[in-house]
Amino acid sequence: MSNIAFVFAVVVACVIGQTEPAAEAPVGPTVVITGANRGLGLAFARRLSADGFRVIGTARKPDAADELRSLGVRIEQLDVTDAASVRRLAEAIGDTPVDILINNAGIGGGWGRPLKDVDIDQAERILQVNTLGPMRVTQALLPALRKGDRKLIVNITSMLGSIERNTRGGSYGYRESKAALNMFTRSLAAELKPDGFTCIAMSPGWVKTDMGGPNALLTPSQSIDAMLKVIEGLSTEQSGSFLNHAGEVIDW
Ligand code: NDP
Repeated sequence: MSNIAFVFAVVVACVIGQTEPAAEAPVGPTVVITGANRGLGLAFARRLSADGFRVIGTARKPDAADELRSLGVRIEQLDVTDAASVRRLAEAIGDTPVDILINNAGIGGGWGRPLKDVDIDQAERILQVNTLGPMRVTQALLPALRKGDRKLIVNITSMLGSIERNTRGGSYGYRESKAALNMFTRSLAAELKPDGFTCIAMSPGWVKTDMGGPNALLTPSQSIDAMLKVIEGLSTEQSGSFLNHAGEVIDW
């Protein structure tokens, strides 16, 4: 068929409605971000939705998550300490493949206290959120993550979770919670290695958020930009690593 005849045939086909429907816009990978209503979680959601990812951002109080809603992303309710809430999240996600899980939600507190002043109930609460929360969420979302192409789990940890680097002490509860999160990451990486997963513990640096305070060194977007650069370049060989936001390996 000549070019002119081909163009003519296409025009006729369009006019009489026999062309294929327009292909749908390509959809990016699906990422679940916990604690996405403020701080680093919100910065992750903002940047990844701008980059074309399908973001599922969680918030304990979705009705109050105005900034997250303004991004136009999907919002799901989640309290990582509440088994029923985690189960509802998994049910809401259903058969949707999840490519990336960012276990970001976390709490701090009791930073400067010597042991005699430590509030053990508060330490228990920190462990519930920072350690058992990511375990609970990962366990519930694992079937959806297995269906995803990327098979990537990022646990947001802290330099304060490094046992090797702990020369100053303090921050009881928080340090333990992040050291245990690191161990969880390591175990998860080993278990899921045969299935092609990459699981890392990543410290975001000291960041200006409600937790990091105004004197922190990095803005949320600086931290997120650096972390996402590292995350994009991760290989399965790096699974089980403890990395900082710049991708440097941190001593356990
Ligand atoms: P923020 O305090 O700014 O935000 C914490 C987020 O976690 C909020 O969205 C909060 O929701 C959510 N969250 C708290 N408890 C729960 C819960 N039980 N269930 C679900 N979500 C919860 O902290 P950052 O953004 O600074 O911290 C994000 C992560 O980075 C944390 O894991 C933290 O430990 C880590 N990190 C931060 C550093 C920093 O300098 N900022 C340094 C090192 C690590 P809500 O609004 O409802 O309270």
